[in-house]
Amino acid sequence: MATVMTQKNEAPPQPDLAALLDLSHDTIFIRDGATGAISYWNAGAARVYGWEAADLAAPGGYGRLQSRCDIPEETVLEELARTGHWQGGITRTARDGSEIIVSARWAARLRPDGLIGEIVETARDVTVKAVAAEELRRSEYRYQNMFRAMAVSFWELDFSGVKGLLHEWRDMGVEDFSAFFAAEPDAVRRVMGATRIVDVNEKTLLLFGAADRAELGDTVERFWPRDSEAVFAASVVAAISGKSNFEAETKMLTVDGREVEILFTCSFPPECMGRGNVLVGVLDISGRVRAQEEVQRVQAELAHAARVATLGELAASIAHEVNQPLAAIVNFGEAAKRWLNRPEPDMAEAAAAIERMIGDSRRASDIIGRIRAMATKSVPKPTLFHPCEAVKEAVQLVRHDMQARGVALSIAEVEAVPRVRADRIQIQQVAVNLIVNAVQAMAQVPEDRRALVIRTGLAGDNMVRIEVQDSGPGIDPVVADRLFTAFASTKDSGMGMGLSISRSIVEAHGGTICGRGNEAAPGATFSFTLPVAEMTADDAAGACTAVA
Ligand code: ADP
Repeated sequence: MATVMTQKNEAPPQPDLAALLDLSHDTIFIRDGATGAISYWNAGAARVYGWEAADLAAPGGYGRLQSRCDIPEETVLEELARTGHWQGGITRTARDGSEIIVSARWAARLRPDGLIGEIVETARDVTVKAVAAEELRRSEYRYQNMFRAMAVSFWELDFSGVKGLLHEWRDMGVEDFSAFFAAEPDAVRRVMGATRIVDVNEKTLLLFGAADRAELGDTVERFWPRDSEAVFAASVVAAISGKSNFEAETKMLTVDGREVEILFTCSFPPECMGRGNVLVGVLDISGRVRAQEEVQRVQAELAHAARVATLGELAASIAHEVNQPLAAIVNFGEAAKRWLNRPEPDMAEAAAAIERMIGDSRRASDIIGRIRAMATKSVPKPTLFHPCEAVKEAVQLVRHDMQARGVALSIAEVEAVPRVRADRIQIQQVAVNLIVNAVQAMAQVPEDRRALVIRTGLAGDNMVRIEVQDSGPGIDPVVADRLFTAFASTKDSGMGMGLSISRSIVEAHGGTICGRGNEAAPGATFSFTLPVAEMTADDAAGACTAVA
């Protein structure tokens, strides 16, 4: 019994504390607050800092760690002396020179005289975390800087209110939101009303004429005119269909109701979309749009001047073209008179002659109408038409000239061609330019070798091609590489403007124009393309039929 008692009162064997502390992931060391000698240094500390215990055991050993802290040393020591504890972030330099950031806790043993004796530090290496946090902070700073200082209007929008609306419509069976928004403009306005403004930069206030953020209001609705609703709807559809961004040119309204031409860009990064946040950039492009309009106006004026000049050149041909139906009218008129003057007037024959007179009057009036359209200065107006029909009309202006010069003309449609949306008069002007050039070039070859082929067909990528092929001498190498440059001409009285104007017309319509020597036979081929207007079933059904 006594033996048992004795065993109970004995202190249990002491564990090897130093060996246990070596197992810790944390760095643990003890230093003398006065001398800086490190009396205990665990394996974790050796691993993080690269120093061994013996390297730091002498007075001043702690100094080798080159500790830096945001808080002044006196403040730290004062707190330590007062409370016996301190904790905070410290940056140190490891033995290999690398920077180590630790989150440290200090506990101090205070001497009877109140001075700090030994300090025990346990710390965690947070270098990776701190660097990542710093990087995040910098990136946030960069973003804030960009957001505030960029010359672009930035909006941070909260889209979360829209989610409820989208759910509501989905529950009602809406699947195709493009079609839904197109049919329900009020739904688009509801989405605008549910899109809240979180933040904007200074440039936004300037562009939209607001004195401060409050003047913009809560939602984006007031900034979208009716005409731009489709663009807003398209941006919403892009966001909900998982696109990463959206961009379109449109108009927005300022606080005082002015319309501004803008480039609207949105980005939908998944991490922001989760929170319902969208970042929108609005770039004022009014200046660019005005400059474009001015260029278009000047181009249209130039094109008009060139048309009038061409009409002058074609005066003889045009006069003949008008004269023909007029002569026919006179003939049919005389015939009608004869049928009526018979002892027994033949009313049926007279009526048939009058019918022909009417037909020819219409022909003459059509031709004059077309010439007038070509001579009139008007703003280019895109309409939907079959290019081959427009080309046929253009040919009429030059037909007599071609006949007089013995040019054999054939117009062929390679395949059914859908309609284009363009300014018909300008496209006819391009066709006339190419035809007149071809006819003029063929003046250099004998009459029996003058052949002009006009083809219309498809040119891949939803384009229509109109081709004018002649059997002239081919393209003079002197102008071959600047055919479409202004004032490039090989003709004595040539201005060198025809092809240059043709190019600006074609390119303004989204097409291309080119000219090259024929491969198999002498002569040149000039061709231009135009984008097919929307390929609806309607277009396909109405495709141009072969032209004789
Ligand atoms: P211009 O007819 O006043 O010379 P264009 O711009 O219409 O001006 O034509 C520029 C030049 O391109 C012509 O002078 C001619 O050398 C060349 N060119 C145009 N069409 C043809 C063609 N069908 N065959 C050969 N050369 C051509």
